[in-house]
Amino acid sequence: MGENRALVVWGIRIDGMTCSHCALAIERAFRQVSGVLRAEASFEARQAWVLAGADVKEADLRQAVEGAGYKLVRADRRVPKWEGQARRSQFDLVVLGGGSAAFAAAIRAAELGAQVLLVERGTIGGTCVNVGCIPSKALLRAAEAVHRCEHLPFAGVQARLEGLAYDKLVRQKNELVASLRKAKYLDVLAAYPTVELRNAEAKFGNGGALYIDGERTTFERMVIATGAQPWVPPIPGLDGVSYLTSTEALALTELPHRLAVLGGSAVGLELGQMFSRFGVEVTVLEVLPRILPQEDEAVSTALRQYLEAEGLTIHTSAQVQRVERVRNGVGLSVVREGTAWQIEADQVLVATGRRPNTTGLGLDLAGIVTGPRGEVQVDAFLQTSREGVYAAGDVLGDPMFVYVAAYTGTVAAENALLGNLRPVVLGTVPRVTFTDPAVASVGMTETRARELGEPVAVATLPLEHVPRALVSHDPRGLVKVVVSRDSRQLLGVHIVAAEAGEMIQEASMAMRFGIGVDELAAALHPYLTYSEAMKLACQSLEKDVAKLSCCAA
Ligand SMILES: Cc1cc2nc3c(=O)[nH]c(=O)nc-3n(C[C@H](O)[C@H](O)[C@H](O)COP(=O)(O)OP(=O)(O)OC[C@H]3O[C@@H](n4cnc5c(N)ncnc54)[C@H](O)[C@@H]3O)c2cc1C
Repeated sequence: MGENRALVVWGIRIDGMTCSHCALAIERAFRQVSGVLRAEASFEARQAWVLAGADVKEADLRQAVEGAGYKLVRADRRVPKWEGQARRSQFDLVVLGGGSAAFAAAIRAAELGAQVLLVERGTIGGTCVNVGCIPSKALLRAAEAVHRCEHLPFAGVQARLEGLAYDKLVRQKNELVASLRKAKYLDVLAAYPTVELRNAEAKFGNGGALYIDGERTTFERMVIATGAQPWVPPIPGLDGVSYLTSTEALALTELPHRLAVLGGSAVGLELGQMFSRFGVEVTVLEVLPRILPQEDEAVSTALRQYLEAEGLTIHTSAQVQRVERVRNGVGLSVVREGTAWQIEADQVLVATGRRPNTTGLGLDLAGIVTGPRGEVQVDAFLQTSREGVYAAGDVLGDPMFVYVAAYTGTVAAENALLGNLRPVVLGTVPRVTFTDPAVASVGMTETRARELGEPVAVATLPLEHVPRALVSHDPRGLVKVVVSRDSRQLLGVHIVAAEAGEMIQEASMAMRFGIGVDELAAALHPYLTYSEAMKLACQSLEKDVAKLSCCAA
């Protein structure tokens, strides 16, 4: 965008939007205007952001808004170029952190022509590449390969695992991490000469002054992107055993025999299944009544059944009261509904969520307000309670995903430099849990939709109706669609399937751009793919798909 001088951005204040459908209607109306490339609207912020050719006029945009039945209050036009107003500091933008949100912010700022200082206290690249998405998914894929070796569903095909040199696998994972860190972070920086990286710790001091490795540094605009770290619950005795978090678990070079996993959400289940497939005896302890408690109940029930069938032990509503060293490892005292028992393990993996990295940052000294979990509070433009200071990524709290981090980093940098033109639009955030089968979802659960009082229609399609699952001899899973009876729009989609992560994007796009279930049911979906599951699930709102022939329209 910064390369193309013929483009402009507009921040447009609009009256009359009351819901996400209004925002969608406004976006559509803007896209009809010749020369408009992208439009994002937020009804909460009463604002739209439009990227357009320089010849698009305010009158064209006004006409679009009024044609859609809303009122354009004000339109601010900016050439997406930072003009480097008189600086008190050597840098136009200081970015705290060196992970995905920080990089996205720094890159967008550099594209806009700004001088940027990126301050990272640890390893460049942050969580995703070093200790999160990349290492976990690399080892999960390996665990899946190990599992498949001994669990092939095809008649007459036999295979056997000849051996597992886990240390070699971990070395390969480390090499992948190092190469991606270089390719996607260090080498990328070289392409942006106006970004300076400093390996140092940043903190606010009295009066909100910024200190970088103890040295006072002036700044005018900032993006805080300091991420999050594992949260460890205050369980008596836990500090006395050398427990693992996901970071240490992914760095182990030797496998324990028995592993207790505290937490039955995404990270606990992904790593729990992974270790189980490498031969570790895994017990998952979840304090809430079901695993993946944020997901639709049908999903939690199905996944639990598949994981238990593979040999994982799962206890829900299980409260760990105490942890202590015992002769053969670690003892965990667990209570469920008044019944107490003891579990022994060699190691404990604490996977009870992540909390923003704000402790010790001195945000209060800078007048930057945080929430109960330390998450930085921001407005619709990602500006904190201190003018000129924005925040992005995991430091904002949930949802903590790398694509959200990158998106918010971009938006924060743009607003910091160009003014508050672009509201953050996070209406449909797809989520994936990389178990096998995987879980992927977008939008509301059935329970949530019903709580909101909207008349809903629900269909659940077992994967055994999907030809792709049948030829794979893997009918595990389901697709559940939650639909508004009035508008026939999707309110939520919940998938359990081997390739759920690849399937959810269709639902996500449909929800983002207002494609209804009848259009999805009628759209051509290639036979014989998992994507047909979405079409069939939408069809099953009206029809019994068991009575349809293959790829019936
Ligand atoms: C095991 C695991 C698996 C995951 N898998 C996925 C996945 O598959 N898909 C997905 O979308 N997301 C996944 N995530 C989440 C994803 O990794 C994060 O959402 C994302 O990396 C957050 O990026 P960020 O830039 O906000 O923070 P980070 O990447 O954590 O970057 C913050 C950086 O700030 C630095 N920092 C902190 N304080 C200071 C300070 N005072 N001064 C200077 N620097 C500081 C830190 O050292 C860190 O490098 C996973 C996370 C984990 C833990």
